[in-house]
Amino acid sequence: MSEETVVVIVEDDPNIADLVELYLRRDGFRPYQAPTGERALEVIAERRPKLVLLDIGLPGELDGIDVCRRVRAESDVPIIFLTARDDEIDRVLGLELGADDYVTKPFSPREVVARVKAILRRADAVNGRDRPPVIDLGEHVVVDVGRREVSVRGTAVALATREFDLLRHLAERRGLALSRRQLLDGVWGADWVGDDRTVDVHVRQLRKKLGDDLRLETVWGVGYRLD
Ligand code: CA
Repeated sequence: MSEETVVVIVEDDPNIADLVELYLRRDGFRPYQAPTGERALEVIAERRPKLVLLDIGLPGELDGIDVCRRVRAESDVPIIFLTARDDEIDRVLGLELGADDYVTKPFSPREVVARVKAILRRADAVNGRDRPPVIDLGEHVVVDVGRREVSVRGTAVALATREFDLLRHLAERRGLALSRRQLLDGVWGADWVGDDRTVDVHVRQLRKKLGDDLRLETVWGVGYRLD
């Protein structure tokens, strides 16, 4: 597991949070703590974790279920609930919040780390299946994601970093109309402060460089779609 694998621990009991943090750190993860729901949303937006451990009973306005809903509205990051009682599990399952797993307290930190690893392996496998290293766009355009190369009719085309990232993002979501905001969030990041026209400028560059072989359509009132 890479040292860069960020995990956010949302837990108001400092003893539990510190213990889980210690075990995750020992295994090479980079954990960050958040003791409230409000803080959790900030830390998740800031650190962009690979996984979130989420206590249900939290002080303040937002409990773990609220946090899960808010996070799910924007991201597919795996979430493991930390639940204190069986009735909490029933509640969580009944709500179909899209959590990936849950662990009941008291738990052994070793078990939590094992679950984290299992979920991340599963997430990697899914991403690997959904995202082939080489994407053929129609007959003539090939995007080699691993090498970050694009060719049109066999000839390599040089793209700027963001141009490539935008093309890749669209290529991985072929056939879907994506708004400029979705593209900004997906390619530039949700905290990027800028203008929708940034997307238009990069689309114009892609069209210019890749020509008519790239079927990058403007969807009026929405944004763009790669066919
Ligand atoms: Ca709690």
